[in-house]
Amino acid sequence: MSADLVVVSPVKKWACTSCGGTGDLLKMEDGGPLCLDCADLGHLIFLPSGDAALTRRAKRISGLSAVVVRWSRTRNRYERQGILAEADAIERAEQECLCDTEARAHRRERDQARRSSEDVRFQAQFAAAIRSLFPGCPPARVDEMARHAATRGSGRIGRSAAARAFQPDAVHLAVAASVRHLDTNYDQLLMSGVDRAAARDRVRQRVEDVLGAWREGIPTLDLDD
Ligand SMILES: [Zn+2]
Repeated sequence: MSADLVVVSPVKKWACTSCGGTGDLLKMEDGGPLCLDCADLGHLIFLPSGDAALTRRAKRISGLSAVVVRWSRTRNRYERQGILAEADAIERAEQECLCDTEARAHRRERDQARRSSEDVRFQAQFAAAIRSLFPGCPPARVDEMARHAATRGSGRIGRSAAARAFQPDAVHLAVAASVRHLDTNYDQLLMSGVDRAAARDRVRQRVEDVLGAWREGIPTLDLDD
């Protein structure tokens, strides 16, 4: 690995040992300080430190580059100020970094689109599973349950968990929970202080009746007559 060229941002007045000129930066050589033109670095552009990714890229792209340091009296050491690199290398590096930002944004959009299409697929599969077990379940209820399951499931719970969600036992539990909350006074019982086990006992028969009717393909309306 070759060492970086080092250019110094001088603290004191100085003169180029070759041309007698001066400048903001110098390159120290055996014979003394050289200005950038005399050191053949005059075409390079200063890129201040601060954006590590941009600096790394510009340095990689640039055919010639140098590290710019300045002596710190308080810390008693040279500190890195930035780099010198070719103008078009800096420009290309800036474009690449910009592309990264855009690429990240696009990836996020794609992820969101994929997730929502997973939700849609999960919802459709869950609705189909409900209909096959409970053909009498009103379509609006099927949709509601499937949507609820999808917002909790699909992409976020992973493939195997999603597969488990479509198994008859799991579908039965989800539908029974919905019936308990919407077709019985279970929630009111809980609100009035009845404990959960007792409340479940109180509504068990009603839940079984509704599930039985839906399983037979009988719309619930018939039960309410
Ligand atoms: Zn010079």
